Amino acid sequence: MPAERYASAAGSRWPMGIMPAPGELLSSWLHRLAYANGVPPHYFGALLGAPGENWSARLDRALPDRILRLLGEHTHIPLEDIAALTVAPDPLPGLRLPLRPGSQQTCAPGRQVTWLQFCPACLAEDETPYFRRGWSLATRVSCARHGCRLRDRCPSCGRGLAPFSQKHLVPHQICALCGAALCKRTRPAADGVQRLERLIDDLLRLHAAGHRMAAGRSLSDLLGSACFQFGKQRMSIPRLPHRDRYHLFRQLTEERSTPFGTRRSPAISYWKRVAQAAPAWSGLVTSFSDAVLPRPKAGPCPTTAGPDLADLVQAAAWLHQKRQAL
Ligand SMILES: [Zn+2]
Ligand SMILES: [Zn+2]
Repeated sequence: MPAERYASAAGSRWPMGIMPAPGELLSSWLHRLAYANGVPPHYFGALLGAPGENWSARLDRALPDRILRLLGEHTHIPLEDIAALTVAPDPLPGLRLPLRPGSQQTCAPGRQVTWLQFCPACLAEDETPYFRRGWSLATRVSCARHGCRLRDRCPSCGRGLAPFSQKHLVPHQICALCGAALCKRTRPAADGVQRLERLIDDLLRLHAAGHRMAAGRSLSDLLGSACFQFGKQRMSIPRLPHRDRYHLFRQLTEERSTPFGTRRSPAISYWKRVAQAAPAWSGLVTSFSDAVLPRPKAGPCPTTAGPDLADLVQAAAWLHQKRQAL
């Protein structure tokens, strides 16, 4: 509770305001907000009226109105900006890493899937380390920025991330279970794996933007429902830990020992087609800009970076706003 004089000066606002970072996941912002205001994340959940072991990860997937309003009241950040940090409503439900109930989340042993991955190089480079929404997708296995593999568990104790359980005032880039730093670098991802991942990412962006497959089929359901053969088990991609998903992507791109088993299904056929198309795929932004932007005149190559998808989306949003204002 703020002291009376502080309350009259600051109103209902919490002492420290934290702006969400671009692409940040709600739980990540909540952990940073708690830390900045001197409350360990474990207790911050109870303060918001969301007690429980994996409280913040649950809010990523479903943020009740009363908690949204409470966060808005205490941070003065627009409600729509807070709601946009969640993955709900989820345009890619079939591909999101699963959230298991209660304590299973915090002690995922070696081969069990975890609820969130991260790029150690991004965490090491961030001015204030934060976790991205895209890291909760099962189709992400590497970092587009650093080209390195993602990680889905602590490099020291091997357990899944549990920042929501942190009972001490420690930032969330430190493992809440063993106290080790999470930013230990990973090995580079193979070129073929990165190409396959980018093609899937581009297809999912189109899907999330409203583009639908023939006969109203959902792309995320199709990709998420394919079962691959792992030893005697058949597993869909969201049920696999990062190590197995990375291995699967390598198998798909190198066409060795196919992980498809003997069964055939439309989902498996689609994965095969995507894997075959990936080596020649130059990226949605490049294809788009090649098609619509004027070709540069002959002469020395420009040294500036190519157009970025975020810039194009921003430009489209700006045009849309202008159109509405007219
Ligand atoms: Zn990175
Ligand atoms: Zn650990």
